[in-house]
Amino acid sequence: MTFADLGLSDELLRAVETAGYTEPTPIQAQAIPQVHMMKDLIAVAQTGTGKTASFVLPMIDILSHGRRRARMPRSLILEPTRELAMQVAENFEKYGANHDLKLALLIGGVQMGDQVRALDEGVDVLIATPGRLMDLFERGKILLTGCELLVIDEADRMLDMGFIPDIEFICEKLPTTRQTLLFSATMPGPIKKLADRFLTSPKYIEV
Ligand code: AMP
Repeated sequence: MTFADLGLSDELLRAVETAGYTEPTPIQAQAIPQVHMMKDLIAVAQTGTGKTASFVLPMIDILSHGRRRARMPRSLILEPTRELAMQVAENFEKYGANHDLKLALLIGGVQMGDQVRALDEGVDVLIATPGRLMDLFERGKILLTGCELLVIDEADRMLDMGFIPDIEFICEKLPTTRQTLLFSATMPGPIKKLADRFLTSPKYIEV
């Protein structure tokens, strides 16, 4: 299996080569084609398996078509901590350097004014921790009705940190026709329930 077998664009194949990756990891081999086809996915995988690239790479391809609109992010990635959110942003910057994608990070400890300005300019990828996202949503600074791709990363850590009610609230504000990807190191009952409620015929991958 090579990256070229996974349906990625030539530009992304070059980005992967620049990163020095010779072959996809098992999660990438299984997840990338599914995400690329805009289908839902549950992936049970630990950090270190290459899971971040398994959603970031196909998302760059999907989002390189289409138009940005003020205050309506096109995709949303939920992360339990600001450190993880920043790592995901770095991945987009690394693989998507040759793509015209606008990112915004909504995390605590960053001036809200800058975040609001970024949202006003239109965002392709919004990477957020649930608390800060809820805060801006409740202040009317953000509309989730144009967000057709949702990633819930590290779902079991979200559960440990008490974020499930926030995630449910956010999911209810997104369009029902959307793509949803859920990543978790383990699948405790409340995460299974969340997946049953908010994902549609997901492919299940365990690595
Ligand atoms: P992650 O599981 O997403 O935290 O990724 C763990 C590490 O694996 C990161 O430092 C990536 O740069 C690296 N990585 C991701 N995909 C590959 C690959 N196909 N070959 C080698 N290293 C990779």
